[in-house]
Amino acid sequence: MIGEERNVQSEGTARRPSLLVVDDERPLLEIFQEFFEESDYDLTIANSGEEAIALLGTQTFDLVVTDLNLPGVDGLTVMSHAKSVDPELEVIVLTGNASTLTAIDALRQGAYDYVLKPFDLYDMERTVQKGLERRRLLSENRQFVTSLQQHRDELSRRVEEATRRMRTLYEVGKEITSNLNLDRTLNLILEKSVELTRARRGMIFLVDEMTGILECDVVRGFDGTESRDEIIAALEPINEKVCGGNEPVLEPISGSAGDLVGWVVPLIQENEVMGTIAVLSHPGSGFSADDQNILVNLASQAAIAIHNARVYGKIQALDRMKSDFVAVVSHEVRTPLTAIKGTLEILSDRNYFEIPEPQVELFDICRTNVDRLETLINDILDFSKLESSKLSTNFELCDLGSVVETVVVHLGNLAEKKALRIERDIAPDLPKVLADDLRISQVVGNLLSNAVKFSDPEGEIRVDVKRSGAGVEVGVRDQGMGIAPEDQAKLFAKFRQLDQSSTRKVGGTGLGLAICKGIIEEHHGRIWVESAPGKGSRFAFWVPCTPAENAGPAAEETPSAGRSPEDASKS
Ligand code: ADP
Repeated sequence: MIGEERNVQSEGTARRPSLLVVDDERPLLEIFQEFFEESDYDLTIANSGEEAIALLGTQTFDLVVTDLNLPGVDGLTVMSHAKSVDPELEVIVLTGNASTLTAIDALRQGAYDYVLKPFDLYDMERTVQKGLERRRLLSENRQFVTSLQQHRDELSRRVEEATRRMRTLYEVGKEITSNLNLDRTLNLILEKSVELTRARRGMIFLVDEMTGILECDVVRGFDGTESRDEIIAALEPINEKVCGGNEPVLEPISGSAGDLVGWVVPLIQENEVMGTIAVLSHPGSGFSADDQNILVNLASQAAIAIHNARVYGKIQALDRMKSDFVAVVSHEVRTPLTAIKGTLEILSDRNYFEIPEPQVELFDICRTNVDRLETLINDILDFSKLESSKLSTNFELCDLGSVVETVVVHLGNLAEKKALRIERDIAPDLPKVLADDLRISQVVGNLLSNAVKFSDPEGEIRVDVKRSGAGVEVGVRDQGMGIAPEDQAKLFAKFRQLDQSSTRKVGGTGLGLAICKGIIEEHHGRIWVESAPGKGSRFAFWVPCTPAENAGPAAEETPSAGRSPEDASKS
């Protein structure tokens, strides 16, 4: 026999190649049998096309050698049947000289080769070997392509899964870091930890900032407290390991709740362990490497979110303390100030005392400064009340036209000192507004005194009051220096003075506009400024006739946007 590689490698297992030889000439079949008997093939012979088709239905072959000219079912039919059973089955056709054309036709229809009768048996064996080799290569190629496809499918599945997890992690990260309430943040982190790792239960332990002890803050997936306490106790040594080594730990836990496996990950902020996240699952389901990774990633975002929520909580508490302190101090300062003011009034009253001329001026200076101090204290007190939502408001139906008139009259003196004219443009038939007239007077007073403060002498200030949408708009326009667009947004923030130099000409706390904004918002209205440098400013506010109507024309407007509600309704 020639050739060494006779075994067909099929689906990874080596076996002897099996041949089916089909011919109606018995002697030829016998020669085949004799020749291939000693070789390494399993040879089956068929005397007719019908017999071959029957054999192809019951046995598996690697190669078929068939005569083309068979009586009854011919060789081409045998070949097409063999190909329908196994498309990779190689077929060699035998044909006499006269029928070469039929043999070529057979090649077109899928035969591997043809051999002309009479043939040399060694040549025949070589052709058989080549056919089997081709079959082996085809089979290997198919397996290779299949495994390549599986590999590619697996790879794209993994990429899809990793992308999904990354996206989820990003979304979860965004969600937890956008929340500043500690309780809500912790619950959200635990909910997502359990969900993303497909765990059954979870717990978050945080180091108590006062005692330094690790305590369980939130749990998920527990019905009763019994198994919860047991698991907290069982997790204690694992938590210690995690906190000691700053590394996650995967360990089994057993107890009355059954056997569990726990994946405990440290929450690290600025190189310090601030707590742990523990997720628990049954040993069967466990945690895949992906589950473990995702919790480690989530924990790093969770630590930042918890830290931020804690800091925010502390800032809020400090802010409350500050507001309370400011309120108490201002209140305490106001009492002696009222006494000083009263005493000054009496001391400077010529009905009671004879006052030499130089002292009159000194008393004036004293009175002006006591007034300034009083305004300052009142501003601070109002502001601290606004911050803690304790500013008292007494809502009644009022006519903003007459409220504005009264304020203009009160501030007439102030304007006169700078020879400023105050013009009024108050629309007739204004609707009544449900408002606190004292607080609205305070706002108008503030806007008007700012207009006086920031106007050059001998100028003009115009106050307008008009109906706008379902409310009333009040505007105070001056011819002062105006305000740059980039500064307009800052105006309504507390303690904001555009000129912060120590040499600034006009006094004030920088709280006035912040208080105005607070008061107007309490009325469900809006306040804004329209201004340009060198062209003066118009500070205006809009309040709804009734708070329910605040979805008026200015509903989408933000204060200080520089556009009036009317402008907004026009656009
Ligand atoms: P203050 O008590 O300092 O006046 P406000 O909150 O009332 O505090 O005003 C804040 C700042 O806004 C002022 O210091 C000033 O820079 C600017 N401002 C307010 N009103 C006007 C105005 N009519 N023209 C120009 N600037 C103004």
